[in-house]
Amino acid sequence: MNELQRQISRSNWSLFLDRDGVLNVRPGNGYVVSPQHFQWAEGSLEALAGLKKMFRHILVVTNQQGVGKGLMQASDLEAINRKMLSGIREAGAHVDKIYSATGLRKCDSFLRKPGPGMALEAAEDFPGICFTRSIMVGDTFTDMLFGSRLGMLTVLIGQGNVPSSYYHLVDYRFASLRDFANFMVKGIQNP
Ligand SMILES: [Mg+2]
Repeated sequence: MNELQRQISRSNWSLFLDRDGVLNVRPGNGYVVSPQHFQWAEGSLEALAGLKKMFRHILVVTNQQGVGKGLMQASDLEAINRKMLSGIREAGAHVDKIYSATGLRKCDSFLRKPGPGMALEAAEDFPGICFTRSIMVGDTFTDMLFGSRLGMLTVLIGQGNVPSSYYHLVDYRFASLRDFANFMVKGIQNP
């Protein structure tokens, strides 16, 4: 058993997941604007199914200001969420709830990561959530800032997107959600 497995096996931990670049293929600099554009990252559904056994709650927290910009409608985002949740169900995985911050960066600083709004909403919905017994998994420094401000452990997925001045906010680093899940579930550290 590795240190992280040991730590979370002691009490009920929750898992917060960013969406783009973690669960699904990052849409470049743009937005996933419809279910057709949403493409699961390789192995992410299997990873979710494995992680289900280890965490009390699994939540998705995603900034989607494409809605605020008018590039998609709230109904498009809802359709994407439905597609996600049905794929998750079919894979035998589980996500308690998907939280989205749809406002613009300049006027939604509380709800948008790194603001704490979506985590506070989740804690209200699921009183069993404790931030200091939670892990935030994301692919940008915004995710790392969000998690560390709330006292969560942070996991960075992928290579880039974090300026060196934010490295101290990163507790663990993996190439993909699949690698993180392998580490958590099987104790395997992929090279
Ligand atoms: Mg992301």
